Amino acid sequence: MMETTSFVPADQIFKLCIEKFNSLPRTGKPTTNEWTVLSCIIQCDSNSKNAKVISLGTGTKCIGSDQLCEKGLILNDSHAEVMARRGFLRYLYASIRNYLSDGSPLAYNEQTGKYSIKNGISFHFFSTHAPCGDATIVSKSTGDEEIEPGTKKMKLSPEFTDNFTGAKLIAANENTDLMSQDEGAIRTKPGRGIRTLSVSCSDKLSRWNILGIQGALINIFLDKPVYFETLTFSGQVSEISVKRALYGRWRKVSFNSERYKLQMPRINICSPDLKFEFEQTTETDPSPASIVWADVQEKPLEVAVSGKRQGVTKSKRNTISEIYRKGPLKFIRGGKSA
Ligand SMILES: [Zn+2]
Repeated sequence: MMETTSFVPADQIFKLCIEKFNSLPRTGKPTTNEWTVLSCIIQCDSNSKNAKVISLGTGTKCIGSDQLCEKGLILNDSHAEVMARRGFLRYLYASIRNYLSDGSPLAYNEQTGKYSIKNGISFHFFSTHAPCGDATIVSKSTGDEEIEPGTKKMKLSPEFTDNFTGAKLIAANENTDLMSQDEGAIRTKPGRGIRTLSVSCSDKLSRWNILGIQGALINIFLDKPVYFETLTFSGQVSEISVKRALYGRWRKVSFNSERYKLQMPRINICSPDLKFEFEQTTETDPSPASIVWADVQEKPLEVAVSGKRQGVTKSKRNTISEIYRKGPLKFIRGGKSA
């Protein structure tokens, strides 16, 4: 087992995540002429010196606003970052249900009636690509761009060309150029066709840096929001752009909240020789499939194409998955079936 303190080396995180990806079955993985993004959430325990991947997501697609399902049976956003977070929520639900087991990262406080993260447990995020949207805009200007002293100007290889985002601006009036590369702006997911209603991964990750990763429902059960302690990226990533997108742009905004505080997790970039097998290239197409895996007992793996669950009959696809019927929904609704 590796040494884990509050900071786990970036290259070690990369290896753990790739090992987990390789251990999963072929279904939902890209073919040889496809690329995808891989994102993972890692749990570190400084007491046992243990680090493990607890959720994993792959995917590059997001459905247009014309394909939304009012029954909630189609995933709106299948980007890897969002899939990994989806798996993380399942992990948290399972941890709440099994809080008495040694493996649970949560402890229950009788006094407050809330769960808290055990001492020494921390959560870390990894992705093989900079989050879409603001984090992929690489500023051409130099000078006052440094967010923190010591931040490296750029960590780009010479062939780095992808220095703009295809994600469109939000809250623009008729005359606004939606493709304008304004820095720090909120955007929808990039993509052709009918525009999606989902915001970019840069915006979602930056939201998690303020409101926590746990979402509104699990928030009810926890004494504090859950935040990432570190964010690690492999591939061609501008450290400056990632810092700006994920927290730098909110540093001058005052948040009047006791519960929520803007987090500035450590950003780590992997050695350039560490490459994900299915990284984006000019010769490959984005994979239409996405995988979500979570470190849970029941049905840890799901595969979706265009937001629709795979590996089930069409009639079954149009129902709520058994794991949700028996699991989190029942739990949250006080035992009533969904
Ligand atoms: Zn994205």
